[in-house]
Amino acid sequence: MPQCKQCTEQFPITPADQAFYAKLAVPEPTLCPLCRRQRILAWRNQRILYSRPCDATKKNIISVFAPNAPYRVYDRDYWWSDKWDPTSYGRDFDFTKTFAENYDALLHDVPMAGIFNARSVNSAYSNHSGEMKDCYLAFAVWGSEKVLYGDLSSYDRDCAEMLETGKCNLSYEMIQTTNCYNTNYSVRSENCSDSWFLFDCKDCSDCIGCTNLRSKQYYIFNKQYSREEYEKRKKELALDTRTGITNVRAQFETLKKQCVHRFASLTKCENSTGDYLVGAGNTHDSFALRGETQNCAFCINGIDKLTDTYDSYGVGASLERAYMVLDTGVNATENIACVIAWSCQFAYYSYNCHSSFEIFGCSGLRNKKFCILNKQYEEAEYKELKARIIEHMKRGGEWGEFFPPQIAPFGVNETIAQEERPVNKEEALRLGFKWQDYSVATRGKETLGPEAVPETIAATGDDIVQQILACAGCGKNYKIVKVELAFYRGKALPIPLQCPDCRYQARLAVRNPHQLWHRQCMCVLASHETHSAGAQCLNEFETSYAPDRPEKIFCENCYQKEVI
Ligand SMILES: [Zn+2]
Ligand SMILES: [Zn+2]
Ligand SMILES: [Zn+2]
Ligand SMILES: [Zn+2]
Repeated sequence: MPQCKQCTEQFPITPADQAFYAKLAVPEPTLCPLCRRQRILAWRNQRILYSRPCDATKKNIISVFAPNAPYRVYDRDYWWSDKWDPTSYGRDFDFTKTFAENYDALLHDVPMAGIFNARSVNSAYSNHSGEMKDCYLAFAVWGSEKVLYGDLSSYDRDCAEMLETGKCNLSYEMIQTTNCYNTNYSVRSENCSDSWFLFDCKDCSDCIGCTNLRSKQYYIFNKQYSREEYEKRKKELALDTRTGITNVRAQFETLKKQCVHRFASLTKCENSTGDYLVGAGNTHDSFALRGETQNCAFCINGIDKLTDTYDSYGVGASLERAYMVLDTGVNATENIACVIAWSCQFAYYSYNCHSSFEIFGCSGLRNKKFCILNKQYEEAEYKELKARIIEHMKRGGEWGEFFPPQIAPFGVNETIAQEERPVNKEEALRLGFKWQDYSVATRGKETLGPEAVPETIAATGDDIVQQILACAGCGKNYKIVKVELAFYRGKALPIPLQCPDCRYQARLAVRNPHQLWHRQCMCVLASHETHSAGAQCLNEFETSYAPDRPEKIFCENCYQKEVI
């Protein structure tokens, strides 16, 4: 087994992996999957937004680049206009330097788009998102309306505090849920309505604090009630008060630890490993891919038609033959080491390039062909130079590796690389990553402390939107915006006492990590004929529940037998 040259962990390369690398004409990786992911995600500041001047219009803009970032940054709309020409920054490739040195110089010259969102209306405070209307602080959110504080979600409406959700409506604090209506604080559930605190429930309505239920109504903590009793008990639980919510949450957490956990959420999948996959075939070590997926590995967060794609994040809408790409796809073929590339064919080592064909080491191009370092060539010239650069990169060990950490445009602590493999400043610098010390957060400026925020939304005045609050968790200041207040009022939810970042971290902590462990089914139930009474089931699987987790993890057979 090869050994990772960064962390020294050994990692397997399967025959299917070898076939993929051969197809893309790249060497086998020298870093383990997690170290590769860290490098790629260091190019994705998904959630930290700054205010800084646009280098073209001089107006203040919202940007993922901090005011001290050494790049030219343009207002998003200006960047997408024809008022500037990215090929005017074109240059020759200098063979006395590495590819990374050549490319880093280009990156510092060509203007960056302040923010990445597409075809969105009234959703300025959002990033790596598209086709949204009236969304606020929505990151990696697609096709949604009125989503506040959402991450990696699609087609939600009137929702807040969402993580990896789809087609939910009027729901709050949901994690990996699909098609739920008026449901709050729920995890891994589908087609549920008018419910609170559900885990692994399907087709349920009017349920509170339940786990593993199918097609049930009027259940509280997995116990059946009549409609009248249910309504009475629900009132007693006082779910409109913070104390009521805290109490129900505590009981729910206990129940959740005791209930049966399916080893992975795999729907209509064949020969695939990972979690939260729908329609995957011959795909391994992948997470949150929805739509047809074939021959993919180490991918996270993908939608619709993904074929022969490895080591990628935020991909899809028809993407074929891609390796080490980020926020890339939309009718695209053969993209290697591309970040934010939409509708590109044969694009290599490029950043924020769109609808282009045969581009290599480019930044900011749209509708171009045969460009290297943003310089336009004739087809034959391009092909010859491209081949020479690949040979140059091979000699320097650069070909088939992602960009080195030194040239990532963000401090690693600004990016979601920290969610997958967190490092402290010292470690980050040792590995060659940048670190961002600039922070927009304030502390101690609050006009209202957490203890003074009312228990219920009914007792909360409209002036809460003028107040500066202090997070009960980290102490950071935060605000409640008008649309958010209207949302809490509509759903009779109290004002959250934690800042958006702490709330996001809390949701992340509920979701399983994007890693797999090989484990054995924990079922010892005597009623299952598939394993003899008292003996543990021998089925094994890959699961994102780490071995030290307290939950009972069951194989598909035992899970199906147990879930009501
Ligand atoms: Zn490693
Ligand atoms: Zn906080
Ligand atoms: Zn089993
Ligand atoms: Zn069993």
